[in-house]
Amino acid sequence: MTPSPAPTTTLPPVLALDRLTRRYGTLTAVDDVSLRLSAGARHAVIGPNGAGKTTLLNLIAGTDRPDHGTIALDGADITRASTVKRSRLGIARSFQQPSVMAELSVLDNIVLAGWPHHPQRRGAWRRPSRYRLHKESAGRHLETVGLADLAHRPASTLSHGQRRMLDLAAALAGAPRLLLLDEPAAGLTDGDIARLIGVIGALPSSVAVVLVEHHVEVVAELAASVTVLAAGKVLADGPTQEVLAHPEVREAYHGTGPSAGPDDARAEAVPAVRTSPTDARG
Ligand code: ATP
Repeated sequence: MTPSPAPTTTLPPVLALDRLTRRYGTLTAVDDVSLRLSAGARHAVIGPNGAGKTTLLNLIAGTDRPDHGTIALDGADITRASTVKRSRLGIARSFQQPSVMAELSVLDNIVLAGWPHHPQRRGAWRRPSRYRLHKESAGRHLETVGLADLAHRPASTLSHGQRRMLDLAAALAGAPRLLLLDEPAAGLTDGDIARLIGVIGALPSSVAVVLVEHHVEVVAELAASVTVLAAGKVLADGPTQEVLAHPEVREAYHGTGPSAGPDDARAEAVPAVRTSPTDARG
């Protein structure tokens, strides 16, 4: 008997945004934004100040709710899920200002960050072997971000760049499927930015990354695909090099044209330019 061919299964996107809209009074901060990211995607969201980038991250993380549209993680609708549930499902976030527990050691920051996510968290206080496992995995995250040598120092002694790395390790401690990075290069020295690019670039392909970033060189290094927002709308999306080279993006974002630059006020009307379908793959 000839065996029947195995059924082909198509995995749902890690993240699917469908016509997401968020209004504040008469202002539409995020306007009909759709996006699909596959496992391991490296995707950036760029645009002028006030374009809606942080609002979009807030909607994905669950700290804000859309007026319209849906958000799905691995095919499951999470549009109304709490931030805690999203975190358990694998969404982690690193903020513009690193949230670090300054009085704790660098290692204990990561032990605590990973605690709620660890499969053997129950009874760990009573069983030293489990606690040791927590510490070992925290140590591995510190190695990933290059802070292993500082594990036993108080976090208060870290530089801004090191705190940023600690915040990143804390996000990784939850073994995320999707990592949201809000301007990770903000305030970093050139050396720290180079380290950050190395660390994010080396993250495993099991982690999809959405990066909001003003440093175009960081976007060009890290992101395989980009969405450009302007006045809440998608101005362009697609492969990074194509999007960054597009004349309207250069004019609206880089300020190469006569009218606009990253710090300009929100554009009144921006024509939609789509360089590819919204299925952005890393
Ligand atoms: P930046 O690059 O300056 O951080 P952004 O692209 O992240 O800007 P958002 O912070 O998402 O932009 O803001 C988009 C628009 O929504 C802005 O006009 C902002 O003033 C407005 N906005 C954001 N949050 C709120 C809020 N809670 N209430 C009212 N308006 C808001």
